[in-house]
Amino acid sequence: MAKITRKPVPRKAPVPKKKAKAAVTKPKAAAKKSLKATKPTSFKPWTPAEIHEVFSRFRAANPEPKGELEHVNPFTLLVAVVLSAQATDAGVNKATRALFEVADTPQKMLDLGEERLRDYIKTIGLYRTKARNVIALSAKVLSDFGGEVPRTRAEIESLPGAGRKTANVVLNMAFGEHTMAVDTHVFRVGNRTGLAPGKTPLDVELGLEKVIPAEFMLHAHHWLILHGRYTCLARKPRCEVCLINDLCRWPEKTV
Ligand code: SF4
Repeated sequence: MAKITRKPVPRKAPVPKKKAKAAVTKPKAAAKKSLKATKPTSFKPWTPAEIHEVFSRFRAANPEPKGELEHVNPFTLLVAVVLSAQATDAGVNKATRALFEVADTPQKMLDLGEERLRDYIKTIGLYRTKARNVIALSAKVLSDFGGEVPRTRAEIESLPGAGRKTANVVLNMAFGEHTMAVDTHVFRVGNRTGLAPGKTPLDVELGLEKVIPAEFMLHAHHWLILHGRYTCLARKPRCEVCLINDLCRWPEKTV
């Protein structure tokens, strides 16, 4: 496989005045700008050697990446993912730490009941709907799947409150399957870098699955999420400290 030499990274990247100004624009305007900036465009295609290099660097920096949603078994992972829609992992963890001490199985969740469940998760957005879904999915896991979280995409997606992303996270983290869950971070990184440009999360998911070598697929989802969350930030990507800044195709990268 062709060896890729990394260019030296300058210590300090000057921030153009225009970009500094963008960082203080109103959130709505900034979000629009960020979306525009990540719109699929035409990139110089990545070679397999370059893609291998990207994931080798992620692996070298963090060989065993972990998701940040706290859970103690596949059922609590499923519940945590359902609760995490439009919420931060930190916010979900704050609520579920106490919840999972009293309800870490579908039966215990049903015994807890919707009203008391609401009290545990009321700091999470859309908690009323989510509480209803968690009770309904617990009942379904018990009645249709013998109390065990099902292992197929179709079955997981049949549970109340669970969609494609939930199924991908559960299949990957609980059952070690090579799925690619696309959240806002993975969507942005896939588009900006040019690794898998796409207009929808599904486009990006399928694009990433197509180009990422199998040897990296177990952890690729977490590497990309962590990269988007801590380095390739939506409003002000930290290109100067980015591990893959010499390979990234984003025309607006700052190095
Ligand atoms: S160089 Fe910048 S835009 Fe490209 S992946 Fe790194 S942080 Fe993101």
